[in-house]
Amino acid sequence: MADCIFCQIIDGKIPSQKVYEDADVLAFNDIHAQAPVHVLVIPKKHIASAQELGEKDGALLGKIFTVIKRVAEEKGLAEKGYRIVNNCGEDGGQTVHHIHFHLLGGRQLTWPPG
Ligand code: 5GP
Repeated sequence: MADCIFCQIIDGKIPSQKVYEDADVLAFNDIHAQAPVHVLVIPKKHIASAQELGEKDGALLGKIFTVIKRVAEEKGLAEKGYRIVNNCGEDGGQTVHHIHFHLLGGRQLTWPPG
């Protein structure tokens, strides 16, 4: 999608600090990190939000979660843990309408979220 900033990051039109990439999935540092490790993991296919997911996306989601685990291990988060966040829609606080999973770690995270 031409007006989607994450599609533009995938296409290299907007620079990003990539931490993982394959044919289907990209992971890159969040520009406004909320924790010592804050990585966004996204499918290269444009899916607007979790609300748009279907049965056909099962394998892609499995791949995304495998990438999250791999990046968490590479960033040294596996032992102490981390948080995976998906904001969906307006009330969920979603600001970029290309589905993404926040991988947050490197400090004690609090609960509940705001
Ligand atoms: P959301 O609020 O939709 O769950 O998360 C969107 C995230 O994308 C935010 O954490 C925000 O900091 C990040 N973000 C927005 N624009 C850019 C950008 O151009 N580059 C990078 N690396 N992150 C971005």
